[in-house]
Amino acid sequence: MALRVAEFLANPGSRFPVEITLSGGEEPDSLCTVESIELAGEAFAQLATLYVEAALSAKLRQPCRRCLEPVETTLELDESFEVPIPPSAESVDLLPVVLRLVLSAHEPNVVCDEGCRGLCSACGVNLNRHPNHVCEPEESGRTTLKDLLK
Ligand SMILES: [Zn+2]
Ligand SMILES: [Zn+2]
Repeated sequence: MALRVAEFLANPGSRFPVEITLSGGEEPDSLCTVESIELAGEAFAQLATLYVEAALSAKLRQPCRRCLEPVETTLELDESFEVPIPPSAESVDLLPVVLRLVLSAHEPNVVCDEGCRGLCSACGVNLNRHPNHVCEPEESGRTTLKDLLK
């Protein structure tokens, strides 16, 4: 997600449109996978800093918090941020700051469907795929309890 800065540096304070798409990125420290981020907006340079105002649209893949199946979500953000322009740099990488913005704003508790039935708490079977699943009660445990009460 590199942005060439020559035009910005040559015209300090002038706003230019910015449009970048990132695809295939990933955040290894998170359960959330970033599939793609589209950035569209304006930017200008001033005193070795690039000021960006843009709308971000991120496609994310996260596990459903009930059944752990991957869920695709789209996150829309309007953001203003600054990126330092290193001396004699030809481009700046917007990805680290954009990733941070997206991951700090994303909803960590997604469900694949409001009616998701989750996993069987006893055996872990996906109850969406096996709606009629019934776990057998732990017979040995009951017998033990009854035995104790005798
Ligand atoms: Zn689910
Ligand atoms: Zn079960």
